[in-house]
Amino acid sequence: MKQREENQGKQQRTPGIPCPECGFFIEMSIYSLLSQADFKCPGCLLTLSMDREVSRPALELLQKVNTQMDNLEKHKRFDI
Ligand SMILES: [Zn+2]
Repeated sequence: MKQREENQGKQQRTPGIPCPECGFFIEMSIYSLLSQADFKCPGCLLTLSMDREVSRPALELLQKVNTQMDNLEKHKRFDI
């Protein structure tokens, strides 16, 4: 497997949400969302806990999107 090229002129946005308390942007990658249960706001140290049951549909959606993005990357590589 070839290593994925990081820079293809594509703009990379950092996924995350603004802190509900202070508005500080908390970075949440898809991987950390899928593997972590809590996030700490670097601004006010508020801990955001993810309710796994409540957020499951959202997490599943994220996982799906993630898989699709992976597939997309693979396709792109094969097309070139
Ligand atoms: Zn905060």
